[in-house]
Amino acid sequence: MNISYDENNIFAKILRSEIPCNKILENEHTLAFSDINPQAPIHVLVIPKNSYINFYDFTKNASIDEVKFFWKLVNDVIDHLKFEYKGFRLITNSGKDGNQDVPHFHVHVLGGKNLGRMIN
Ligand code: AMP
Repeated sequence: MNISYDENNIFAKILRSEIPCNKILENEHTLAFSDINPQAPIHVLVIPKNSYINFYDFTKNASIDEVKFFWKLVNDVIDHLKFEYKGFRLITNSGKDGNQDVPHFHVHVLGGKNLGRMIN
């Protein structure tokens, strides 16, 4: 099944500066900002600046540079938050079974307390 990218999703609007975000860090291909409805004391979202629907689309179709810059920014966010020793969790939801709400690829960076078991 081929799903097309929805240009009106909320993260596309953030990338076009149509709605604001609380920016944490960015690089040439990637943006990190605070989640508006945090699920942990610290909850950051990392998104590519180009249009990819989910993890599969991104890893299938993004350039090597985009992939490299993406994971570099995730690493920079971990440094920025001083999560290296305390620990953290990365999550990426995909599609219907993954309960993905916003159809623009993103990784959640969660931490700031012990997050418990992964799936309750
Ligand atoms: P997901 O369910 O993995 O697609 O996660 C989407 C995330 O986007 C949720 O954690 C929302 O709280 C977050 N979110 C939705 N709108 C905004 C926004 N305008 N700014 C920041 N985060 C948002």
